[in-house]
Amino acid sequence: MATDRYQQPDYYQVDELLTDEQKLIRDTVRAWVKKEVSPIIEEYAQRAEFPKQLIKGLAEQGCFGPTIPVEYGGGGLDHISYGLMMQEIERGDSGVRSTASVQGSLVMYPIYAYGSEAQRKKYLPKLASGEWMGCFGLTEPDHGSNPSDMITNFKDAGDHVVLNGAKMWISNSPFADIAVVWAKDEAGVIKGLIVERGMKGFTTPETHGKWSLRASATGELVFDNVQVPKENILPNVKGLKGPLGCLSKARYGIAWGALGAAMDCYDSALRYSQERIQFGRPIGGFQLTQKKLAEMITEITKAQLLVWRLGVLMNEDRATPAQISMAKRNSVEIALNIAREARQIHGGMGITGEYPIMRHMMNLESVVTYEGTHDIHLLITGMDVTGLNAFK
Ligand SMILES: Cc1cc2nc3c(=O)[nH]c(=O)nc-3n(C[C@H](O)[C@H](O)[C@H](O)COP(=O)(O)OP(=O)(O)OC[C@H]3O[C@@H](n4cnc5c(N)ncnc54)[C@H](O)[C@@H]3O)c2cc1C
Repeated sequence: MATDRYQQPDYYQVDELLTDEQKLIRDTVRAWVKKEVSPIIEEYAQRAEFPKQLIKGLAEQGCFGPTIPVEYGGGGLDHISYGLMMQEIERGDSGVRSTASVQGSLVMYPIYAYGSEAQRKKYLPKLASGEWMGCFGLTEPDHGSNPSDMITNFKDAGDHVVLNGAKMWISNSPFADIAVVWAKDEAGVIKGLIVERGMKGFTTPETHGKWSLRASATGELVFDNVQVPKENILPNVKGLKGPLGCLSKARYGIAWGALGAAMDCYDSALRYSQERIQFGRPIGGFQLTQKKLAEMITEITKAQLLVWRLGVLMNEDRATPAQISMAKRNSVEIALNIAREARQIHGGMGITGEYPIMRHMMNLESVVTYEGTHDIHLLITGMDVTGLNAFK
């Protein structure tokens, strides 16, 4: 990839809404992404390999569990700081941000929110430091948008339970040390279990052939009579609200993250439009190019304000899952549209690894589907405003 010359667009001086601490956190993560992620990410994406060496840096930047209290190894930060971190990481690459989101929001958060004190102490500090990596198992081969019908289950066997079933599309699974797995007990109640690598009957085959999130490792979780100690069951939650609570945290991060990818595409397209000469002048001087850029910055500005406001509501513990759905859906939609328009502005160069556009565009095709698909989030908004459920 060409040198990273990224400059964040801020058309409405949204920076003034941030505290000095939030800006410092954002700038620190941005500098790390420019130094450590941008120079290598294209090569890793081309090779379809997760750059494992970034784990240490992500941990050092405090990107694993930024809102988890400091006593458990987290950052003890507010939600806008967390959002800004995700924005900066995804500006680099959605796959790298996925790793951070899974670790912080889908593994550390449920252990913190639903776990026993012993589970918190055992797992959280090691997850925060990146010594252990985790993954989150909810989706099954036959149950994606409808996880309540999951068939992965566990049966009581004295001091342990016996877990059977399979999860699919699990980010980080091929190298994760632990998995937070959602499964049904004998009464059909969904509970969370912490499954550790090395438990007999637990395997994590990698999924190959992805055209999207190529720099993120994805795989299955297969449970064949896995004996899980009862002390590994998360004691303080039951039912679908367990996984959905984690997903709200992660979707919030995605709302900021996808905006990061959108801003990177816009920034690259703007610069290219000023430097690329055709018909004797910069292509940015043509009205059709300006229309694309003007629409991009308009959508980016609206999204910046939306995620910032959502962050305020999150900090005040007032954000609803439906508000988070709206922001996730909006950010990913505008990011995909902006990536497609930016690709056109870059002409043929837009399909190469010299620029980040095509990688962002392909990555966003996963982001638009995972953590609730585009249409499912629309239905959540629809249900919220009408009071009528269109899912079933
Ligand atoms: C790269 C990647 C990483 C992922 N990482 C994880 C992870 O770490 N952990 C995890 O648990 N999962 C993960 N997922 C899974 C992801 O969350 C699911 O793919 C997603 O929830 C959609 O499920 P599905 O793929 O089975 O699609 P389906 O649920 O089969 O949906 C297919 C289509 O039908 C539509 N649809 C479904 N129901 C309705 C309805 N009621 N009304 C209208 N339309 C409907 C959907 O919107 C979609 O367009 C990942 C997925 C990908 C691609």
